[in-house]
Amino acid sequence: MAINIYNTLTRKKEPFQPLEEGKVKMYVCGPTVYNYIHIGNARPAIVFDTVRRYFEYRGYDVHYVLNFTDVDDKLIKAANEMGEGVTDIADRFITAYKEDVGALGVKEAVDHPRVTENMDEIISFIQGLIDKGFAYEAGGDVYFRTRSFDQYGKLSHQSIDELRSGSRIEVGDKKEDPLDFTLWKDAKAGEITWDSPWGSGRPGWHIECSAMAKKYLGETIDIHAGGQDLTFPHHENEIAQSEAHNGESFARYWMHNGYINIDNEKMSKSLGNFILAHDLVKKHDPQVIRFFMLSVQYRHPINFSDELLKGAKSSFDRIKNAYENIQHRKNSTMSLEEDQSEWLDKVAGFKEQFIKEMDDDFNTANAISVLFDLTKAANLYLQEDQTHEKVLTAFEELLEELTGVLGIPLQAQEELLDEEVDALIEERKQARKNRDFARADEIRDELKDRNIILEDTSQGTRWKRG
Ligand SMILES: [Zn+2]
Repeated sequence: MAINIYNTLTRKKEPFQPLEEGKVKMYVCGPTVYNYIHIGNARPAIVFDTVRRYFEYRGYDVHYVLNFTDVDDKLIKAANEMGEGVTDIADRFITAYKEDVGALGVKEAVDHPRVTENMDEIISFIQGLIDKGFAYEAGGDVYFRTRSFDQYGKLSHQSIDELRSGSRIEVGDKKEDPLDFTLWKDAKAGEITWDSPWGSGRPGWHIECSAMAKKYLGETIDIHAGGQDLTFPHHENEIAQSEAHNGESFARYWMHNGYINIDNEKMSKSLGNFILAHDLVKKHDPQVIRFFMLSVQYRHPINFSDELLKGAKSSFDRIKNAYENIQHRKNSTMSLEEDQSEWLDKVAGFKEQFIKEMDDDFNTANAISVLFDLTKAANLYLQEDQTHEKVLTAFEELLEELTGVLGIPLQAQEELLDEEVDALIEERKQARKNRDFARADEIRDELKDRNIILEDTSQGTRWKRG
């Protein structure tokens, strides 16, 4: 059976067919790194990590790319306000992003390209568009000539005429047409800039993803993903840029996750219901947060509240308890030779059901229901007069396997390796050097939780296991 994906481009569920046998080339639009991410950004991180894990579970090799927008207006503003360099701020929040989503069980991407490290590719991509007549320079800026790409609007299902009726040229605009969008911006005084054939400046937002997807994955990719709010204009513009430039279809499947609401209201700074993932993972068990996020199919909106998170915790605990009881019983059960195929077949049936649900556009909500059914069956089995090691092991292993696919593995946390401890100590040293004492303390606490005791000496930091 194939994995079926709802494709925003065709508005249909389609069986996944990779460009290359056994491989998935997947690009996910990442954050602009000027602040900690809020839980709205944590959702795509978790959702598309689960998509990746599921493909891997089904035997695919996934080339997962997630970019960091490390220069833009917000970053420049933050740099000015904090009296820091744009790169320093970006570095800090990239580290924070990796830690926060890492706590939520998100694996590192194969590639994490940054705009400032791909400036040559971006500039030559823009030059390619100019050479082909799809873009033009105007007073130090470069714009994409939207009407020159006749399939514009195909992702968001809007026609150029519809779009044009809602837009107009602003006074002082250098554009030929109101629908044209920026590829390169002329430098303003005091801003960080790069040299280009059109003078010094910096790229617009959309172009980075076209240039970096091409560099890391090739001209045509399997899956392009991001939050629903990116469909228009960001992804529409990416398609226009890439297909105009490469002369090839850009992405075969477009996946978009739904919004997150807080207490049934849209999250916004003005409503004061803005929740940072950074704070949330400190207050709650990150596995419960991830479990909660996956309790709704990714395309649907999800409502967040403390009450709902509490509910998720007790649900997750039910699965955990069954798992622990199975393990406990296993230790006190003898291995018997009797035929156990009936129960073993039953357990195997849950695995099949789980795969069927996940094959249906990664329906984690239904996959979690299967986990509950498996849990119920395990509890029922534990009530039998005689339990058998083989069946207990089958329950134990399947619970581990399926929770692992969802990124909420039940297995006990493994001990930190020496290298991992050394790396954290080095990071703490750097944090202190950068006067980021909050981070330095955080690392000390994190290590303490994992039973590692630090001792600062004049020769450096020593550590031992407690
Ligand atoms: Zn993008």
